[in-house]
Amino acid sequence: MCIACRRRESQSSLQRLVVTEDGGTRIVVDSSRSLPGRGAWIHPAEECWSAAYKKNAFARAFRGAPAEPPDSPCRIHHSEKSG
Ligand SMILES: [Zn+2]
Repeated sequence: MCIACRRRESQSSLQRLVVTEDGGTRIVVDSSRSLPGRGAWIHPAEECWSAAYKKNAFARAFRGAPAEPPDSPCRIHHSEKSG
């Protein structure tokens, strides 16, 4: 289920998020889907990412984790545009 729009979706069409604990707590996009730890799922769509930021859905998905939200891959994609 997507943490932003809460729609049921097969995991193959969602991105996996996971909390890492390397010198802090941070949520990262687990693009290889192989990182250990508790996972959450989100659509790789800008609307879901911005909704998740607004609703703080990341913190809610990882209950109790004072985790920094991940960088949106959509934003990264946008910044790659030239011109
Ligand atoms: Zn979604």
